[in-house]
Amino acid sequence: MSDTIFSKIISREIPADIVYEDEECLAFKDINPQAPMHILIIPKKPIARLADAASADQQMLGLLMLKAAEIAEQQGYGDAFRLVVNNGSGAGQAVFHLHLHILGGRPLSWPPG
Ligand code: AMP
Repeated sequence: MSDTIFSKIISREIPADIVYEDEECLAFKDINPQAPMHILIIPKKPIARLADAASADQQMLGLLMLKAAEIAEQQGYGDAFRLVVNNGSGAGQAVFHLHLHILGGRPLSWPPG
């Protein structure tokens, strides 16, 4: 079992502003938002990085994407949002529990930084 800050949010050891939960995933507002909507969606299964996911995780990974789109819609940003996965410290990953950033509510430039 991992003991990242996100596993402590799952177990309610630390608080978070939770916007969605089901048996497989949890979504909550990022504590340091980079856009008017900045939500993190995580699997309850403690996978450190996307690169550590296996074929057995295929259904769960698909669920994260579908729920991310639903959450963006519920938050009022269904027409313009971005999903970001930072994989590894070289890509900016700081919390080693897989998470998708759901960003929206401001112009999102391309290419990303
Ligand atoms: P990453 O750099 O991709 O690993 O993203 C980690 C994200 O987790 C950052 O955007 C942080 O602001 C966010 N974060 C860290 N601690 C918390 C927390 N306790 N509650 C909500 N978001 C957090």
